[in-house]
Amino acid sequence: MPQIRPQPGIMEIALYVSGQSSLAGKAEVLKLSSNENPYGPSPKAQAAYAEAAATLHRYPSTDHAELRAAIGAVHGLDPDRIICGVGSDEVLQFITQSFAGPGDECITTEHGFSMYPILAHAAGAVPVEVAETDRRVDVDKILAAVTARTKIVFIANPANPTGTMVPGAELRRLAGALPMGVILVLDGAYAEFAGDYDGGVSLVEDFPNVVMTRTFSKIHGLGGLRIGWGYARREIIDVLNRVRQPFNLSLGQMAAAEAAVRDVEYTRWCAAENARWRDFLRNGLVQMGIACDESFANFVLARFDTPDEADAADAALKEDGILVRKVAGYKLPECLRITVGDEAACRRILGVLAAFKGVR
Ligand SMILES: *Cc1c(COP(=O)(O)O)cnc(C)c1O
Repeated sequence: MPQIRPQPGIMEIALYVSGQSSLAGKAEVLKLSSNENPYGPSPKAQAAYAEAAATLHRYPSTDHAELRAAIGAVHGLDPDRIICGVGSDEVLQFITQSFAGPGDECITTEHGFSMYPILAHAAGAVPVEVAETDRRVDVDKILAAVTARTKIVFIANPANPTGTMVPGAELRRLAGALPMGVILVLDGAYAEFAGDYDGGVSLVEDFPNVVMTRTFSKIHGLGGLRIGWGYARREIIDVLNRVRQPFNLSLGQMAAAEAAVRDVEYTRWCAAENARWRDFLRNGLVQMGIACDESFANFVLARFDTPDEADAADAALKEDGILVRKVAGYKLPECLRITVGDEAACRRILGVLAAFKGVR
């Protein structure tokens, strides 16, 4: 009898663990575990989504032309070089499926986003993990790990869960030094929170092997709807479109995303609020003796003295109905990742941690 066996690599996938969203015995929780926008989506996106309800009997467009035009207009990009997906996760999947396979290697980094090894395994490729330096992606270590089998290098900039960034000049050095056959994926899920950063657009313009991915899940507050996009040379987008299902995005997704990206004022406001309360949160942590690198995203990484202390702090937060993210799975067992909430959320978390630390 022939056996039913999955493709190579599939059984090596460790299932993705998402941020916790409920607590036993607590009716109301403050969820700061998934880097969601505390202010929700733009009211215009909500209205567009509701309006789409009347035409749900119609198939959506297969080419996402209106959404790509909106993204192109707002970001100053050629819509023909944009591809949209079910979250940026799907765009990352198109890239991996199209450019890596059995025998190939995909480079990820020590504290890198856990989707990258999952996608590499799903394509039958081998994820190769490169060490970071003090929670920062290290360009020289990546270059030293490149082999003839390397097909993709994944970097989230800003990075999750560390919140750190590779400076623009370093990224450019990496793009220039990689062999032309290696795709450099710049995952810009948190690019809007970093201030003066284009998410990697200028590198896409200058290097044929750089692909940028972006998402509506973070700054646009649409994680529940699942929309992301990618930007690259026409030749690469043409490849990715071949593995994309024609109707991958629904009417409601496209309507909400288009309204969200066009609401530039709301996006700016969200970024400004985030920057303000991120600083407040980090300063508060540092003042009570909890180490915390400067973050360029919408979360901070609180570093405790030991893994036990991080667990105890997590328990104290849970006791108060606050959910943050444990990141032992990212090789950071002494840390907790805390999403930057609104003012009340940041004050509350600092209050609980101050009591935990016995400072006032
Ligand atoms: C949240 C996140 C994404 C976005 O995923 P979506 O599929 O767009 O929701 C991508 N990369 C990183 C590093 C993230 O943290």
